[in-house]
Amino acid sequence: MAQGTQGSQSGLAIRRISASPDPAPDRAPGARTGPELAKLIDISRCIGCKGCEVACKEWNELGVEPTENFGSMQSHRDLSPDTWLLMRFSEIEVDGDVQWLIKKDACLHCEEPGCLYACPAPGAIVQYENGIVDFNHDQCIGCQLCVSGCPFDIPRFNPATRKVYKCNMCVDRVEAGLEPACVKTCPTNAISWGTKEEMKALGAKKVEGLQGRGFDNATLYDPAGVGGTHMMYVVPHGDQLAEYDLPADPIASAGALAALGGLRKLGASALGLGLLATALHYLGFGPQEPETEGLGGAEAVPVGAGSEPAGEGAGPEGSEAGGAGETTDG
Ligand code: SF4
Ligand code: SF4
Ligand code: SF4
Repeated sequence: MAQGTQGSQSGLAIRRISASPDPAPDRAPGARTGPELAKLIDISRCIGCKGCEVACKEWNELGVEPTENFGSMQSHRDLSPDTWLLMRFSEIEVDGDVQWLIKKDACLHCEEPGCLYACPAPGAIVQYENGIVDFNHDQCIGCQLCVSGCPFDIPRFNPATRKVYKCNMCVDRVEAGLEPACVKTCPTNAISWGTKEEMKALGAKKVEGLQGRGFDNATLYDPAGVGGTHMMYVVPHGDQLAEYDLPADPIASAGALAALGGLRKLGASALGLGLLATALHYLGFGPQEPETEGLGGAEAVPVGAGSEPAGEGAGPEGSEAGGAGETTDG
């Protein structure tokens, strides 16, 4: 599928539609018409191979983007309209040891999606009953309010198409009964796929296993402030969420964003929208920092692509079938 035609061509049951009435207003609160699905990323099993990044590009026919050595194990500096998944690497010192903290950065498919609540274009963003949040580019007006509404800084604007892009959880595969491409390709079974209930239970078991191996602060990342997510993380160092670039308490409730309703009416004015988007982005992420040139930071150490991430040598957890034996300490 070409990038410009991505989004919301699915026949899946719809739960929420941007700037539109509730499609099932009589449904009991919290009720669903079908299974709620989720992806679970076990950071402790990720070896940083980036196979998931490649699978995402291939399945979704996203363009190849040039990159450079900027002193990081990351393939690229940031997400983009053509990069919906980026493995982020953070090198920190924990108890005297250097550790790579790895994060699979992509849309978390929030149960309360700030992007959808902020969008003023009817039908440009939909949430399916299974939890997937998908953009319909035919309806997107390019205002970028979704960018400001997302507490995880995920959607990316393409000035050429004037549309916004992000992971769609491989909705076409899911609709056909397949797992997302990144799940399928991961060689260490770091990514699991199933119902939200199953993934929460698996996540709890993995956290228990990590804590039993000395990762006292291991936690399941499924933040309540966005109603939980349909991509969750098992985080070995739950006390270092900021180092993983995971907000500790993201919020995107319908109530909080309802306050923006009046401001959204500025949608009639392109200038108003631009000012609003700028103001919201500033409030959310602060002033834009100019990119440093050359190496990504004074303390950054260039690492070859073939290098092994340094870890604590945490052994295999042994709770999943068929996983590669070696795990890293993400
Ligand atoms: S992570 Fe951001 S883009 Fe994805 S569903 Fe949540 S608010 Fe929307
Ligand atoms: S679910 Fe699909 S679109 Fe999303 S990151 Fe994985 S491969 Fe990419
Ligand atoms: S999640 Fe799996 S495929 Fe992706 S980088 Fe980690 S080990 Fe490789």
